[in-house]
Parts: sequence; structure tokens; C-alpha cells
Amino acid sequence: MKSDCIFCKIIKGESPAKFVYRDMDFVAFHNIKPSAPVHVLLVPVEHIESVNALEERHGAVISKMIIRAKEIAKQLGISDSGYKLVINVGRGAGQIVFHLHIHLIGGW
Ligand code: AMP
Ligand code: ZN
Repeated sequence: MKSDCIFCKIIKGESPAKFVYRDMDFVAFHNIKPSAPVHVLLVPVEHIESVNALEERHGAVISKMIIRAKEIAKQLGISDSGYKLVINVGRGAGQIVFHLHIHLIGGW
């Protein structure tokens, strides 16, 4: 946990969020500034800065997040219309929160 990280604060309950899923390993909540009708962020509990900081040991949580993203898409009714799973890596790619997250975007 990193004290100045907004996603760590959300995970610790120190900052509000509209959760759609949470377990011991990761959480999912609605983006505060959605760029589509559905815009959910999936975030590991561990503070991993970006894909560049991933290690072999993170493999299980990352794959569970992708499988859960599919379930959340179904739950929010966007499975059939289609959705994107996006990870921005680094400032040049538009990453502004340096706690790894997967964007689940859809519902157009
Ligand atoms: P990225 O550009 O990939 O780092 O994406 C970070 C995302 O986090 C942006 O789409 C923001 O709108 C979103 N975001 C930032 N702060 C919050 C917050 N407190 N609650 C929910 N989403 C947030
Ligand atoms: Zn963090």
C-alpha cells in the first residue's frame, strides 16, 4: 500500500468508490470520469506501478482479473454489444494513476 496512491486509498476504504466486485486479490469499481456508458476499473490490491513492474508471481492475479472482467461485462449487460479491456503503460500511453489497472469500457 502506498499512502499517496488514490487506488490504494479506495482499496483501504479511505476514499469512496462504487464497487462492482472485490475479493482478497483485486477490486473493481466504476471510473469517476467514464469515457463510455460503462467504464469500470479492475485494480489489484497489491500496489504494482504498471505492467512494467509485473513479475512472474503476479500471473495468477492478472489472469483472474481478466476472467472477472468478462463476468462483470456480462453482469453489466455489455457482453454481446462488445467491450474493450485496456491497460495504459507509462505516461506516454496516457497512464495517470501509477497503480496498475485494467479499463473495462463499453456499452455504446
Ligand atoms: P489511466 O489513465 O490508465 O492511468 O487511468 C486512470 C483512470 O482512473 C482515469 O480514467 C480516471 O478517470 C480514473 N480515476 C482517477 N481517480 C479515480 C477515482 N477516485 N475513482 C474512480 N476512478 C478514478
Ligand atoms: Zn496504489
